[in-house]
Amino acid sequence: MARLIVLGSAAAVSDAEHDNTHFALQGEHSVVLVDCGSNPVVNLRRFGIHHNQLTDMILTHFHPDHVYGVPILLMHMWLLGRRKPLRVYGFHHCLERTEDMMAAFQWDDWPQFFPVAFHRIPEREEQLVLDNPDFRINSWPVKHYGIPTMGLRIESRASGKIVGYSCDTAPTPNVVRLGYDADLLFHESAGADPAGHSSAAQAGEIASEANSKRLVLIHYEVWEKDPTRLLDEARQTYNGPIELAADFSVYDI
Ligand SMILES: [Zn+2]
Repeated sequence: MARLIVLGSAAAVSDAEHDNTHFALQGEHSVVLVDCGSNPVVNLRRFGIHHNQLTDMILTHFHPDHVYGVPILLMHMWLLGRRKPLRVYGFHHCLERTEDMMAAFQWDDWPQFFPVAFHRIPEREEQLVLDNPDFRINSWPVKHYGIPTMGLRIESRASGKIVGYSCDTAPTPNVVRLGYDADLLFHESAGADPAGHSSAAQAGEIASEANSKRLVLIHYEVWEKDPTRLLDEARQTYNGPIELAADFSVYDI
């Protein structure tokens, strides 16, 4: 059995009920964090996941709402005595800046720090990110303000289920590809912006085109806004089941 745990669902501006969008994939042998908001050590513990079980972290792009939790995650695990290595995946643009961010905290001087291995992923379509006994994850470049950003197609080996994740993007054919025939398509719905974001209606269009079986809207605006209106918007362009991702909701995959 594997599960996807939503740890945050908000667009760049979070509120008390919605952290910035990030999630965890839990399999029998691995836990993969996709982006890093909040304090994942604390939030994974709600689900009985010990920090030593975290094996891999994918960073989709270098925007604060997707990477701000990295320093506290690494420091927290170090202070708890972690020794196990952690693998971190992303495009060069993101990993270079993540390393600079950690250098600003002088992490080289943290004694007995556990090994962190950075894996630079080429910016190509259907590029393998990781392949382990639980998950096979491929990435596609998406369209987000000219910043190298990856969407993901996640295959659960336990069930064969496919999860697509648009990440932050304007409508692009690459999300149709990564979400093709997916059991679940997590699509951002921050609002239409041809340079970098999508509306809920556009998320629905992509889900229809991709023949995705279920659409989960994520990365939506929450600050003094009622996101439930987005469901009606997406229903105009997509006939399948639609829901809003909620923080701490769990999907069996
Ligand atoms: Zn972004």
